[in-house]
Amino acid sequence: MEVRIEVAALEVGQVVRAAFAETIESQAGEVVFDRPVTGDVEIARDRRTVRLLGHLETTTPLTCGRCLTVFQQPLRADLDEEFLVDPVPVHATGTGQHQLGTQDFMLHLGPDLILDVNEVARQHFLLSLPMVPLCRPDCRGLCPQCGANWNETTCSHQVPAVDPRLAPLLKWTDRFPEK
Ligand SMILES: [Zn+2]
Ligand SMILES: [Zn+2]
Repeated sequence: MEVRIEVAALEVGQVVRAAFAETIESQAGEVVFDRPVTGDVEIARDRRTVRLLGHLETTTPLTCGRCLTVFQQPLRADLDEEFLVDPVPVHATGTGQHQLGTQDFMLHLGPDLILDVNEVARQHFLLSLPMVPLCRPDCRGLCPQCGANWNETTCSHQVPAVDPRLAPLLKWTDRFPEK
């Protein structure tokens, strides 16, 4: 289902709040949003603009960049977008110069004045994808020699956890255990 707001049906000054619980498509080949997107959205209609605020969450299965395990990556989208209700872009109205204003950087709703909340959410989620997905921040990765998953097991190629130069120091502290 798509959440599409008919902005023309909103009165100036009207604020609509709604719980969001939808399944949306990522529409980006490798990425799937296979869990529902949940959260809250608020749509505030002003005379020339409509503002969309919202906090949405979902997850997507990604492959860890270190250990190659597929895991569910939490995704969060904090929406704060303002759209011009004026269906005609300012640039198209005249041939003369005009000062750039904030409205030049706002998105325009299409001529049908439909605010497609799913589309905004989709773009936010795709932009929030990590460059290098990690199943957990301290993922130990795979052994480059035997391929053992160091999160689950150890192997003989493992780098010693303690710098050998510090080993004598550890022995020293052993002799004086903390009380
Ligand atoms: Zn990992
Ligand atoms: Zn190994």
